[in-house]
Amino acid sequence: MTHHPKKYFLFSVDLEDVRHRMSDGHRHEERVPPMTERYLQFLDRNKMKATFFIVGDVAKRYPQLVQSIVQAGHEVGCHTNTHIPLTQQTRESFRADLDENMEILFNAGAKALYGFRAPVFSLTEKTQWAYDVLIELGFTYSSSVLPAKNPLHGWEKFGREFKLIQNALWELPITLYPKYFSLPCAGGVYLRMLPYWMTQRAFAYYGNRGLPVLSYFHPYDIDSEEKPFMFPDANNSRIFNQLMYINRKSVLRKLEKIIDSGWEIIPYHDYVMQHLEVNTVKTILNS
Ligand SMILES: [Zn+2]
Repeated sequence: MTHHPKKYFLFSVDLEDVRHRMSDGHRHEERVPPMTERYLQFLDRNKMKATFFIVGDVAKRYPQLVQSIVQAGHEVGCHTNTHIPLTQQTRESFRADLDENMEILFNAGAKALYGFRAPVFSLTEKTQWAYDVLIELGFTYSSSVLPAKNPLHGWEKFGREFKLIQNALWELPITLYPKYFSLPCAGGVYLRMLPYWMTQRAFAYYGNRGLPVLSYFHPYDIDSEEKPFMFPDANNSRIFNQLMYINRKSVLRKLEKIIDSGWEIIPYHDYVMQHLEVNTVKTILNS
């Protein structure tokens, strides 16, 4: 019998409410709580623990969601306070923002914080000062880089490998399709849009090499019942907006298939502690 190394799927949810980025967002139905519940049920059904990167304004509005996530044994990470991209922040404003994000998460029930994800992968060559702030605050890892050219944000020169920054913090870039197709292979919109055989092929590629796959999903990615509206990030483009709604129903089915093919979901922090070299063990505790 050949020994197969474990295949780790670093599944994560970026817990945010797009309505908070719209001036008339309150007119739309609240969908974050039921969709969070749906993700929690999916994880519970499969007996797996994941990471939820949570925006401060969501934790403030729905502290009970943070409690449910913590009680179920999942990891809570930071996703900034109001989802402002780092490109619109300064070192000082980012630090203040993150301080507030951490405080709100702790007040809502988070027990410890280790990780950070930048809004829309806005940690790039130009905003890498963010690492100084993350290290100062005691974070262990960040998963904030899209290591490719991208119309929005991307940092191609960073490379696809995990890197230890300033000997203090791991950056775990989002996993792209292998080789030349530089889109995230397990990002919400791409998993929804592209045929499953492409996803399967990408997972097989990494699984065969003993490498984990990192992902990001949002509450809306699985919301097949939501009444469509123009997304704040769709720049009033109808075609782009349609992509925000396409194939939402397929997501959990596809995720189940990934798990059925032998992938195990574990929290990012567990992966860092078990598989990467960590010089100092850090925990940001509620004090
Ligand atoms: Zn986000």
